Amino acid sequence: MENQPYSLFSSAETEELTFFADLILPIPVPRLFTYRVPRGMTDILKIGARVIVPFGKRNGRVLTAVVARLHNSPPTQYQARYISEVLDEYPLVTGYQLELFRWMSEYYMCPIGDVMNIALPSGLKISSQSKVQFNPDFDYPELLTEFETVLLTELKKHPALSYDELERLAGEGGNVPALIKSLISKKAVIVFEEVKEKYIPKMIRKVRLNRNYEEREQLLVLLQRLEKLPKQQEVVMRYLSHIPMQRDPTLNQKGLDKTILNQDEELSQSSLTTLLKNGVFEAFEIIQPRFSDDSPASSVEIKLTEAQRAASQQIMAQFEHQNIVLLHGITGSGKTEVYIDMIQQAIGSGSQVLYLLPEIALTTQIVVRLQRVFGDKMGIYHSKFSDNERVEVWKGVVSGQFQFVVGVRSAVFLPFDNLGLIIVDEEHETSYKQHDPAPRYHARDVAMMLAHWQQAKVLLGSATPSLETYYQAKQGRYGLVELFTRFGEATLPNIILVDIKQEKKQKTMKNEFSSALLNALEMNMERKEQSILFQNRRGYSPYMQCEDCEWTAECSNCAVSLTYHQRAAELRCHYCGHKEDVPRICPTCGSTKVRTIGFGTEKLEDQLQIYFPNSRILRMDLDTTRAKNAYQQIIQEFESGQIDMLVGTQMITKGLDFDNVSLVGIFDADRLIRFPDFRATERAFQMLTQVSGRAGRRAGRQGTVLIQTNSPQQSILQKIIENDYKGLYEEEIQERQDFNYPPFSRLIKLTVRHTDKAISHQAAERLTNELTDMLGSSRVLGPEEPLVERIRNQFLYDILIKIERDKVNVKAVKAYIQERINDILTDKGLRQVSIVADVDCL
Ligand code: ADP
Ligand code: ZN
Ligand code: ZN
Repeated sequence: MENQPYSLFSSAETEELTFFADLILPIPVPRLFTYRVPRGMTDILKIGARVIVPFGKRNGRVLTAVVARLHNSPPTQYQARYISEVLDEYPLVTGYQLELFRWMSEYYMCPIGDVMNIALPSGLKISSQSKVQFNPDFDYPELLTEFETVLLTELKKHPALSYDELERLAGEGGNVPALIKSLISKKAVIVFEEVKEKYIPKMIRKVRLNRNYEEREQLLVLLQRLEKLPKQQEVVMRYLSHIPMQRDPTLNQKGLDKTILNQDEELSQSSLTTLLKNGVFEAFEIIQPRFSDDSPASSVEIKLTEAQRAASQQIMAQFEHQNIVLLHGITGSGKTEVYIDMIQQAIGSGSQVLYLLPEIALTTQIVVRLQRVFGDKMGIYHSKFSDNERVEVWKGVVSGQFQFVVGVRSAVFLPFDNLGLIIVDEEHETSYKQHDPAPRYHARDVAMMLAHWQQAKVLLGSATPSLETYYQAKQGRYGLVELFTRFGEATLPNIILVDIKQEKKQKTMKNEFSSALLNALEMNMERKEQSILFQNRRGYSPYMQCEDCEWTAECSNCAVSLTYHQRAAELRCHYCGHKEDVPRICPTCGSTKVRTIGFGTEKLEDQLQIYFPNSRILRMDLDTTRAKNAYQQIIQEFESGQIDMLVGTQMITKGLDFDNVSLVGIFDADRLIRFPDFRATERAFQMLTQVSGRAGRRAGRQGTVLIQTNSPQQSILQKIIENDYKGLYEEEIQERQDFNYPPFSRLIKLTVRHTDKAISHQAAERLTNELTDMLGSSRVLGPEEPLVERIRNQFLYDILIKIERDKVNVKAVKAYIQERINDILTDKGLRQVSIVADVDCL
């Protein structure tokens, strides 16, 4: 180096050299932002690290950004501002994740900032909106600086303080980003974004011995000293019997529930108080873990059945030459056991495993089953968790604490870097697709990309695979393994169609109930077996109508009828949440004959209670499960056997496994089948098969399913009865091919919206024309008013773009669409139009 001509200048030059960082900001702007790196930061700043930066005109407004690129060319368009603080010395966002963000931004046509914003739990994103809370677990006050101590004392007085309030407290000289960073790294505070439903953790009060006694000698000295105080000695001995510190002193840190120590006598209570006062014991609190299950890990041996073992072996064999395998296993075949086997093998070989589940299934039985096997090696990632818990899983993945994570769709964003296996359970589930906000991604498809980059295998599982997936398997692009026997000699239920047209003619219907269903319910009650009733519509009844003039109650913001909710005695819009009082008389003609039409779960529950006054009935739908643990409570109560009937929406179709359910009743099947969408038949098959699968999951008695329909001869119903997935597939795939629908094409839906219908229409027309010019009219459908053409006072138009899989360069098409959209959005005449792209829309 010394001989190089530039060396004379180089030292001087590096001093002058300014570094810049291109940052991903969590805002919906489709570009990176360049910031200046302060001199002291150049050595520590790394790609993938989080930084705090000032943003916007207002002084003091800050955001957390992620470093995407480091370089030394200043931006030409604007004056770069300085980065305020680096949050990570070791990047919290991996290279794989940055790649994922870029890919998603391009593939799903949305700004990279939107991707990052969804990917990072808000506990990792300090911003002006952040709230800071004292961490009740914190017990190292000696680590704090004087100033931090003052601030922390202040924080303890409040449930939480906002970033702005901290600024005020810190005053002129205080560098709040640096302070928060320091307090976080000392685990003295918790940062979260204010959410609607704030998580209030349940605290357990614990005690542990003073750290001194973790040394064996000190402990002996203590016990000797307490010889004279037998009651206190007994308390310490009781502690040691639960926490065998003699064997492993570190166990002390976990401590013991306070209640265990002063269980019986009052005496131990006062002894404990004395011991606490004298500093022998210290008290502390921890947050109760969500799925507390005390049975130790690996206590449960999984013994696969013959069929399951065969399936597992076939999957392994196919993984030799396939990256993706579909496990097509009927309901109750024990797919979970096969997954557990695969997970154990992958973990054993040292790689990471991700197990994706649909949102709702995750709060329940499966997790408990998994936890019995994997214990605290398993991380759980759920959207109902608090920020703080999600941050812990995130960090646990980085640190290696969690080699295996079970999670909902957003778990694809966790910082894995060594995935060996991804399982997508119930791969057909539409809840894997995020609808709002952007990125509108499909977790199954993202999982496949992740696996591709990290050379991991993907196992898709379902009793009713999506047509897309099954098609790929049939084409040989995915492996296919079938598991067509139920566990433990249980058989699939007997499905019977009940012709309600006939019953109506014979006047044997009672409200919504056929006599066939009522009789079956009656018999089931007598046998003390449980029943499930499925109606995919919540509320009391979907319409309220005047008998005289046919006026119907509609939402004032959306073009939909309001649903009548009897319990709450109000009308509700299921699109925007608008609520209003029930009219006593018709607002148009003044008639008093305002009636409800149709029925939802609430009405069924009421009617059941009338027909079966002695039965215990529960309802499970969006309305009864809003509260934090409501879902689990309903399931537990039903599982305990004290409940006779469970009425519910599609929530009850997902993965539930009850021993004693032998009857399933299905209402309104025709409505599911006739839904105006090219996927309606597939959906109806999936939903009805899944809900039927809840019946007869134990050997001994075959379950029964009654489907109420107006036209029993419909071919899809026959296929459901025969569990003829392949028949359904053959029929449907032909139709998809004829009309060039997925899997033969990709769909992109563009939704244009504006509060002025004419402007919305104008923008949609223009976009359609421009797209048609380029793509041809066969590929561009619309603009069309969607089923609900007005939501929250915005008028909507949909444009559907169909692109053949093999013939067209999709990337180029997307780029072109994006350009056209940008043109319209920047057109002054079309101000405030919003256009949303939904790639691979469902
Ligand atoms: P699926 O997901 O395929 O519908 P599950 O995995 O829920 O089926 O299994 C159905 C029931 O059978 C569960 O209660 C499960 O515990 C039980 N089961 C399945 N396989 C086994 C096995 N090998 N050993 C013990 N129980 C099993
Ligand atoms: Zn009227
Ligand atoms: Zn509305």
